[in-house]
Amino acid sequence: MADRDGVIWFDGEMVPWREANVHVLTHTLHYGMGVFEGVRAYNTPDGTAIFRLQAHTDRLFDSAKIMNMSIPFSKEELNEAQRAAVRENNLKSAYLRPMVFFGSEGMGLRATGLKVHTIVAAWDWGAYMGQEALEVGIKVRTSSFTRHHVNISMTRAKANGHYINSMLALQEALSAGADEALLLDPEGYVAEGSGENIFIIKDGVIYTPEVTACLNGITRNTILTLAREHGLELVEKRITRDEVYIADEAFFTGTAAEVTPIQELDNRKIGAGRRGPVTEKLQKAYFDLVSGQTQAHAEWRTLVR
Ligand code: PMP
Repeated sequence: MADRDGVIWFDGEMVPWREANVHVLTHTLHYGMGVFEGVRAYNTPDGTAIFRLQAHTDRLFDSAKIMNMSIPFSKEELNEAQRAAVRENNLKSAYLRPMVFFGSEGMGLRATGLKVHTIVAAWDWGAYMGQEALEVGIKVRTSSFTRHHVNISMTRAKANGHYINSMLALQEALSAGADEALLLDPEGYVAEGSGENIFIIKDGVIYTPEVTACLNGITRNTILTLAREHGLELVEKRITRDEVYIADEAFFTGTAAEVTPIQELDNRKIGAGRRGPVTEKLQKAYFDLVSGQTQAHAEWRTLVR
């Protein structure tokens, strides 16, 4: 990743990609206290547009507030930084990574006077789990690693250190031959994937866990809006893993994963074991929306130029 052409927005300046470096005593590298976003820009008929830019920037500021980090830029400046990162790297579509982290002015948990740094990187990134996963769906394993408790890690924040838990779960799932992990909350209810929210469909009703242990996903919110607009009945509630086993359909949502169908959980086929009709309808609606194939929700697409 580090050795490539292009530029990265770093504390207000565009820096050549290979020179966007930090010191090994960078505080966030040691303790994981930092916050970030994952954002996508899509090629639309009007030009490249960042999807739900404001929602991502708002969540970044919320995450920083939760972690008591003061971002030294305004939301408007970071929106502009994200547009510039796509534009100046000549990207037609992109994945963006804004991140806020502490500098190397001090070490130890009691360090004070740490500088807060902000970066925005952007690069070309196709389907997160491959194109086939979007069409046929993925195999999922319930994780032996529990998702964060709401009073251990502040689950509303998208914080760097939280992803240790995600990576442990994902590594376990991949080594067991699955494509993704399903993490349960500390009480044993379904929380989410390592980087995705989960939805199930049973008898025409869509269910998703309430936002407690899981991240307040922006794609989750988009799908809830689309489902409502399609007249589908929606319920946000606690879900058990056996409810997923006997669901008619299931899918994951995330900025990176987009809308990824789940074909099986713990070797039990979900429904017909492939992308179901409701999932397909919502997935198509999602891709139409992000790529500007519909005029609907134009306010969610911010042109980079
Ligand atoms: N849960 C976790 C743990 C994630 O990392 C992500 C990706 N940000 C999501 C859910 C989905 O969130 P979003 O739709 O906002 O990308």
